[in-house]
Amino acid sequence: MKKVLMSACLLGKKVRYDGGSLSVHDQLVERWKSEGRIISVCPEVEAGMSIPRKPAEIFEGDGNSVLDGEAEVFEKGGNVVTDDFIAGASIALELCKKFNIEIAVLAESSPSCGSSFIYDGSFSGNRTLGTGVTVALLRRHGIQVFSQHEIADAHKAIHATVDFPRRT
Ligand code: SF4
Repeated sequence: MKKVLMSACLLGKKVRYDGGSLSVHDQLVERWKSEGRIISVCPEVEAGMSIPRKPAEIFEGDGNSVLDGEAEVFEKGGNVVTDDFIAGASIALELCKKFNIEIAVLAESSPSCGSSFIYDGSFSGNRTLGTGVTVALLRRHGIQVFSQHEIADAHKAIHATVDFPRRT
């Protein structure tokens, strides 16, 4: 049974910076739930950040730049939270290793979970191409990451490979 890592906020858990969720209503996700495939994670909360918390954005870079030590994650107001974001990403990766997870569906545009877009660091609502810190780390370890807008693609990826029994 291939497991899928999912952003906790997409599963209705109120873990976002503003105390809300981003629940997705999708039959495929309901099917994954009934099959017991889903492993839920909120990297920021797992790293010890509070609910609610100040919004955070990556300044002059993306998740890859953060992992390479070339950019920082700032809370609105200027507090640097880079270490928390890297810690959360590492916890998500450990979950993937523990459950042999190769596919993740994470919330688009988050500085942790964004897979195609993030906010641009100006706290003005502008998005830019890039990935969050957790997504960058998972992809560096070969995990395919999709957003909540690509659930059908994630479903195809789950079923693209079959676990054949080992020969003895
Ligand atoms: S987008 Fe990721 S880090 Fe942000 S609340 Fe959702 S699960 Fe947590």
